[in-house]
Amino acid sequence: MKSSLLTLIMIFSLHSANAQESNGRHVLLDQLRVIVGDGNVLTDAAVLIEGDTIVAVGDSDMMDIPADTTRIDLAGKTLLPALIDAHAHLGYDGVSSWGAQNYTRDNLIEQLHRYAYYGFGAVFSAGSDPDVLALEIQRQQSAGQAGGARLVFAAGMAPPGQGPNNQFLVETLAVEQQTGNTILRGLGNAEQARVAVQAVADQSIPFIKLWVDDRGGTQEKLSPEIYRVVIAEASRSGIATVVHQQFASDMPDLIAAGVRGFLHGRLENGFTQEIASAAQRNNVFIVPNLGLAELRREAIGEDLFLAHTLPAETAQRLSASQQRLPIPVRDPQLEQTLRNSFAMLLNANVDIVLGTDAGAVRDHPYGYTGHRELEIFVRHGMSPAQAINAATSVAARALGLPDSGQIKAGFRADLLILDQNPLDDIRNTRNIHQVYLGGRQVDRATISQEFQ
Ligand SMILES: [Zn+2]
Repeated sequence: MKSSLLTLIMIFSLHSANAQESNGRHVLLDQLRVIVGDGNVLTDAAVLIEGDTIVAVGDSDMMDIPADTTRIDLAGKTLLPALIDAHAHLGYDGVSSWGAQNYTRDNLIEQLHRYAYYGFGAVFSAGSDPDVLALEIQRQQSAGQAGGARLVFAAGMAPPGQGPNNQFLVETLAVEQQTGNTILRGLGNAEQARVAVQAVADQSIPFIKLWVDDRGGTQEKLSPEIYRVVIAEASRSGIATVVHQQFASDMPDLIAAGVRGFLHGRLENGFTQEIASAAQRNNVFIVPNLGLAELRREAIGEDLFLAHTLPAETAQRLSASQQRLPIPVRDPQLEQTLRNSFAMLLNANVDIVLGTDAGAVRDHPYGYTGHRELEIFVRHGMSPAQAINAATSVAARALGLPDSGQIKAGFRADLLILDQNPLDDIRNTRNIHQVYLGGRQVDRATISQEFQ
């Protein structure tokens, strides 16, 4: 698998060697339904792409179409912005194993291609990446030397030697050892917090991820005195702080401190209308992040949408067993609580953002879990259109990607084209016809072959 993946990367590099020539090329995707990503829908519309950018959207008869344009008739298809996963952990998942031994540049690039296969244009890796390596991959992506979904990442901060769950913590410390890079910045007091934020600002990393969780009494919980300093200092440097918080009851003070977003909703217990309203007033986004608890009890290996990108033995391992049922049994009381919490978020008009925590544990796979999370959103009361916004324009705003998440002139040509309309049934996001990232069609057939 490794050598064939390298072939894939080399093919991509050869393509980008011709970037000069391809930058001027025009493609017209015609006769589509276009879900803009901001709530609007166009019918029988066209999207004109120049190089990696959308240059016109609307009626093709009204467009000034250059003579060199390749016209593609996509009657009956639906086009929407490529999706965005605003909470993942790249590098550790090796499909058949999980841990620090998998964290290599090649594996991270492979995961970005996996996201591309599933129609994702960007992914936020939340505080668990070696800084120098992640910055290098971002530079290579901007230069067109590395493909896949765009990598966005955060610098991690927690009390010294703590942060991720105890199993994950061991692996992040091992990756620090093996790469010599920094992942977790330990905060013992306010002065150390100032120094750590300054170091992140010096590296121009636009996000800090804070862990505020005592892991059931096994770790120290980051104190409000310290996180207030981090958030305030970060904000002065234009850095957004996002948080893993332990309880809903931690949220009001973190909102008051100026946090930008919550990577777990904590919607199961103790979530209130007041918290939702405070989040909205302070422009704080919330990632509900529910699939992590739910999908580990489901026989997801039997779902062909996932199995098509897994080796057979991995799909087998994720199939029906005592732990994994074809249809998981759901606690009706929890379902009602989550439905109530979603109603609070929707009433308050909070920015709900798609995020999966994929890769934080073994067997919560990239890309696939994002589509499943959308289903969970709709089950708990969002309309399909609202769920799509959460995965596109709202997620792009949360991650500071002003050129992503909408189908409009000037935006990146990161596109997901579907065989059926997801506004009719959100599960139609799985029926992928084609994916374009940066104006280039993703070779999904080859990627799926590589991954099996
Ligand atoms: Zn996480």
